[in-house]
Amino acid sequence: MALQIYNVLGREKQMFVPLQEGHVYMYVCGPTVYDHAHIGHARSYISFDVVVRYLRHTGYDVLYVQNITDVGHLTETEFGEDKILKRARQMEARPMQLVEQFTRSYFEDMDKLGVQRPDISPRASAHIPEQIHMIEELLEKDYAYEIYGNVYFDVTKDPDYGKLSNRKLEAQEAGLREEIRSDKRNPADFALWKKADPEHILRWESPWGEGFPGWHIECSAMARKYLGPTFDIHGGGIDNIYPHNENEIAQSECANDADFARYWMLVGSLMVPDADGIPTKMSKSLGNFVTIKDALSNYRPEVIRMFTLSAHYSNPVNYHEDALSAAEGGWERLYGAVRLTRQRMNSAPEGDDGNSFNERLDKAHEDFTAAMDDDFNGPRAIAVLQELTRDVNTLLNAGTSLGLNTLRAISDTYQTLGGDVLGLIPEHEQASNGSARREAGLIELLISMRAQARANKNYAESDRIRDELMKLGVVLEDGPQGTVWRTE
Ligand SMILES: [Zn+2]
Repeated sequence: MALQIYNVLGREKQMFVPLQEGHVYMYVCGPTVYDHAHIGHARSYISFDVVVRYLRHTGYDVLYVQNITDVGHLTETEFGEDKILKRARQMEARPMQLVEQFTRSYFEDMDKLGVQRPDISPRASAHIPEQIHMIEELLEKDYAYEIYGNVYFDVTKDPDYGKLSNRKLEAQEAGLREEIRSDKRNPADFALWKKADPEHILRWESPWGEGFPGWHIECSAMARKYLGPTFDIHGGGIDNIYPHNENEIAQSECANDADFARYWMLVGSLMVPDADGIPTKMSKSLGNFVTIKDALSNYRPEVIRMFTLSAHYSNPVNYHEDALSAAEGGWERLYGAVRLTRQRMNSAPEGDDGNSFNERLDKAHEDFTAAMDDDFNGPRAIAVLQELTRDVNTLLNAGTSLGLNTLRAISDTYQTLGGDVLGLIPEHEQASNGSARREAGLIELLISMRAQARANKNYAESDRIRDELMKLGVVLEDGPQGTVWRTE
């Protein structure tokens, strides 16, 4: 089966056919950098990280662009206060100083979560000329109009307007009635360029006087610059389907006279229970968010990834300590098998052992591919690894001598599927170079000396070995299969 993607544009699962064979051009709406990122962001960017990792794993050359929103008409409503300017005032910082701080914080969090960096992370503030240029094109083609230094997009000129969110114009107008302002032709028209008030700090020269770009134009302008007018996949959060994504489509398709993104993938909301236990969307504006930094102080990054992938990316998911604990338990079982396999490799005899476990591993690869080809089905992919783990544990505990070839094939399977694609398996603690191999061998030697001390009922000595290793950051865990170790 080939890769199928649920395309929000059209509301159906479709076979993925890229525009250019072997290549995927992809854009994902990035963060607005006015505060630390919360784990709703983690969910979204981990989901797309796995999409990109899987596409690359299957052989695609992916160009992944994700913007940084550091300027613009960043308000909840058309008339609210700019989020960055408001926060800068609260923190008594210059807006661009604030933006720099939270951009760094964002990448720091993503690096810790194992989210691979996008190929291009364009900043909106560095692409003002491109945005102005696109607004000029829209004015020229009569899709936009200028009034007193403001430029608006006229939604009635675009017959396709509303096609992503399935909204009818009349419904939008009813919803926006309270926002009617005299200088807009239609209530649903949105700003492409805003005239700057005298106190507005972030401002640029434009053909319409000093001002700043609207909330949506940056993504249209930067996607075109780096990916061309038509590209393969556009990602984002379901909460931004309207107006943001809808307006991106309108601006781009009207300016370019071409289709915009061909597949739209939107991640479901991360919900948290409110005071009455009712699930509510996690958001900065609601003040109910858990920052990624807080979550990382309680859980390993792989556990947060496991939690994220345990629900399909398109569904809403509840953030709850119990769910995180369940993910932690699941991850430890998975990684326990990987660690045990790697440690057995240090002392295994070279070559084959007459085992036919390779067929089992081939099946894991096949099932995993089927799961991921089905609209990147994370929960199913994890289930495949969990079933494999049951069989691997049975094999490891059967008491038969396993050759290096079998153990290496198991370790490689986990590394490829669980590590390279899902990002759940940390880098080898094992034996990849001479000194690491020597260190692993010395730890194994101490573990065997400890086992000997225990067999002689010399518990003081066995405890001393454990405690001294602990001081060096090597943790021993005794289990039914014997003692395994890990570094902290
Ligand atoms: Zn966007």
